[in-house]
Amino acid sequence: MNFVQVALELPLYKLFEYSWDTTRIGREPVIGQIIEIEFGKKKCAGIIIEIKKTSSEKSEEKTYSVKEVLSIAPCDPLPEREIKLYQFASKYYLRPIGEVIFSSIPRDWKIPANWTRIEKSIQKKENKKTSEDKVKELNLFFNDEQLKAISTLNQITNNRIYEISLLKGITGSGKTAVYLEWIKNITKDQNKQCLLLVPEINLTPQLEQTVKTICTERDVVILHSNLTPSERNYAWLKIQKGEGQIIVGTRLSVLTPIKNLSAIVIDEEHDNSYKQQDGMRYSARDVAIWRAAHLKIPVLLCSATPSLETWQKVIEKKIKLLELTKRAKLGSTIPEIIISDIKIENKTTHFKEIGLTNYVIEQIRQTSKRDKQVLIFINRRGFAPILACEACTWKSGCKKCSAWQVLHKKNGNQKTAMLHCHHCGLIERTPEACPECGNQDIKPVGLGTQKIEENIEKLFSDLRILRIDTDATRKKGQAEELFQKVHRNEVDVIIGTQMLSKGHDFSNVETVIVIDIDKSLYSSDFRATEKMFAQLVQVAGRGGRGENSINSKIIIQTEFPDHEIFRALKDENLDSFYKELLEERKTAKLPPFTYQALILAESKNQEKNEEVLIQLKKYLEKVVNPTEACIIYDPIPRGIQRVGGIERTQILMESNDRIKLQKSLEKGLDYSEYLKSKNHSMRIIIERDPITF
Ligand code: ADP
Ligand code: ZN
Ligand code: ZN
Repeated sequence: MNFVQVALELPLYKLFEYSWDTTRIGREPVIGQIIEIEFGKKKCAGIIIEIKKTSSEKSEEKTYSVKEVLSIAPCDPLPEREIKLYQFASKYYLRPIGEVIFSSIPRDWKIPANWTRIEKSIQKKENKKTSEDKVKELNLFFNDEQLKAISTLNQITNNRIYEISLLKGITGSGKTAVYLEWIKNITKDQNKQCLLLVPEINLTPQLEQTVKTICTERDVVILHSNLTPSERNYAWLKIQKGEGQIIVGTRLSVLTPIKNLSAIVIDEEHDNSYKQQDGMRYSARDVAIWRAAHLKIPVLLCSATPSLETWQKVIEKKIKLLELTKRAKLGSTIPEIIISDIKIENKTTHFKEIGLTNYVIEQIRQTSKRDKQVLIFINRRGFAPILACEACTWKSGCKKCSAWQVLHKKNGNQKTAMLHCHHCGLIERTPEACPECGNQDIKPVGLGTQKIEENIEKLFSDLRILRIDTDATRKKGQAEELFQKVHRNEVDVIIGTQMLSKGHDFSNVETVIVIDIDKSLYSSDFRATEKMFAQLVQVAGRGGRGENSINSKIIIQTEFPDHEIFRALKDENLDSFYKELLEERKTAKLPPFTYQALILAESKNQEKNEEVLIQLKKYLEKVVNPTEACIIYDPIPRGIQRVGGIERTQILMESNDRIKLQKSLEKGLDYSEYLKSKNHSMRIIIERDPITF
C-alpha cells in the first residue's frame, strides 16, 4: 500500500491524502498522474504531487479513514518538470497548487466520468487524421539586419543553454519573419517543440497563415479561447505527448505541459494582456522566462516598445539585444509624425461636436482622393462616455460602480439609446429627462467610436466607413470579416479602438489619426506614459506598410504638443526616452527598481475592508520588520473603488528585494487565510507585480 498526496481544484492551500492499491489499479503511482478520487460525496479529478510509503496522518489524530484512489486518467502523467513549474507559480503568486495545475487542464479532463468519452473521441480524431493541404512556402530575402538576428539566434540554439534575448524592431521591420525563421530552424529536429506566445488580439487567422507559410511541414497547434472542448482536449493531449511542433497560444498556454519544449518566443512582450487580472494573477511573460530558465532553453522577447522591466535588464546586460531598425518590405516607409495642436480649437463648440481639426478633415479628404485608406484611432467605444444634465450636476453614474455609464447608440430593435457600464455590464435605458431635476436637456459629453463614425458619415457622405470595436465584433468570426474588408480595400475610413492597433498588416492605410489621448498623458498611473507610448507606436505602425507609401503620415491631436512622448515618437531611437523614464522611476523608487505587491480586500463594506486590511498591516509590521524588508502602505480604495456593488480596497507593499517581499507575503498569506475565515463575505487577494491599482 502507498499513500499519495493529491492536489485538488479547491481554493485550499493543502494537499489531500489518499491510499493507492497497486494490485487493484495495476501499476505503481507516479507523480503528475491525473487520478479519480472521491471528495466528500463527489467524484473528481486530482493530481499526485507526492508519494509516501506510510500515511502522514498520525493514527491518534485520525478521525476518518483515508480513502482510496479510484482510477487513473487515460493520459500520461504530467511531467515532473511541469509540476515544478506549477509549484513555482503557486509559491510566487501565492495561489493553491491545485488551482494552478487545474487552470492549465481542459475542463473535460477534470471530470472523471468524461474520461472514456474523451478517449474515444481522441481515438476517432487520430484515425481521421489526414495530411492538411500543402501550404506554399514563403521565401523571403532577409535583409542584413534580419540575417544577423537570425544567425545570432541560431548560435544561441547551438549553445543549448538558457538565454534571454530581446528582438527590438520598429513596427514592420520583419520581427515576425525573424522569429519564425528561428522556430523553423529549431523544429527541423522533429523531436523539438517551440511555444509562441501572442497577445489575445494578435491571434488572428492571418498570423496562423503566416506561421504556416514560413514554417511549412510543421504541425502547428493553435491554442485559443474559442476552441471547442473536443478540440481543446485533443490539442492538450497532443502537445503533452510531444506532437504539435509549433504551439501558438495566448497567456494560458504558458502553463500547458509541452513534452519537448525547446524554445519560447513572446511576441509583443510588453503587452498587458500577458498579465491575468483575476484568479491567479500571473504574468505569462515572467512565468515563461522562469520556465525557460528551469528547462535551460532560450527565450526570445519581441517588441517595438519593450517594457521598462525588460529594457532595464538589457541595460544590465542580462538580456541580449538584437535590433531591426528598418522597415522590411520594399517601398514601405516610416510615416511622418504630425502633432495637431487642439489648444485653440478645443474651445470651440464646432470642435467639441466634430472632434476633428480642420487640418485632419482636410487630410482625410486628400487621402481618399489618392485611393488610400484612413484609420482613426480612438480608444473609447460607444457614442459618448457620459450623459449629463445641462441644468444640474446629474451625470450618468452607474448604480453599481464608481464609474460613468457610457451612452451607446440604439442598436437593432432597441427603441432608444442605452447606457452601458463597461465595468459591471449593467445596461439601462437612457432617461427621457434628468432623473434629478426633470430637465429635458440631457446631453452626451465627449466622444466615442460611434460618435466619430456618425460625424465622418455627415462630413463625407461619399466615403465608405467602417467601425471596428468590441461592439461591432461580438459574434464569432465578425472581427476577421471586418479586417478582411479593410484588406480587400472595401472601405475608405476605418474607425476603431485598440483592437486595431496591433499586428494587422494593412497595406493600403496611408493616414492614421489618433484622437482623445490627452487624459492618459497626465494620469496618476506611473506606467501611463510607458503604456501610451507603446500604444502610439503600435497605432502609428499601421501606416505606411504598403509599397509606394511615401505620403504616409500619423496625425495626433493633442492639447499638449510639447509632451516628451511626442518627441520620443519622432525620434527613431527610443534609448534616450527610455533612459529618462527609467531615471524617473529610479528616483521615485518604482518598478523596475522596486518590486510591488497588492493585498486586496473586496466586500460590500468599504469600512470593513479597511478594518481587516489594517489588522493585516499591523500583523505584517510586527512579523516582518518593515524598515528592513518592505514598505507597507495604508489601505486605500482602489482606482475604481466600487464595481458591481463590491467595494475594493488595497494595501500596497514595496521592496527593493524580491525575496524579502516574497517572504513577507508568505507570512501575510497565513494571516489573510485566518482573516478570511473570520470574514466569510470578504475576498482577500494577494497580487504580485500588479499593473493596475
Ligand atoms: P513586425 O513583426 O516587425 O511588425 P512583420 O514581420 O509583420 O513585421 O513584417 C512586416 C511585413 O514585411 C510583412 O508583410 C512581412 O511579410 C514583410 N517582410 C518581412 N521581412 C521581409 C523581407 N526580408 N523582405 C520583404 N518583406 C518582408
Ligand atoms: Zn438635472
Ligand atoms: Zn457598473
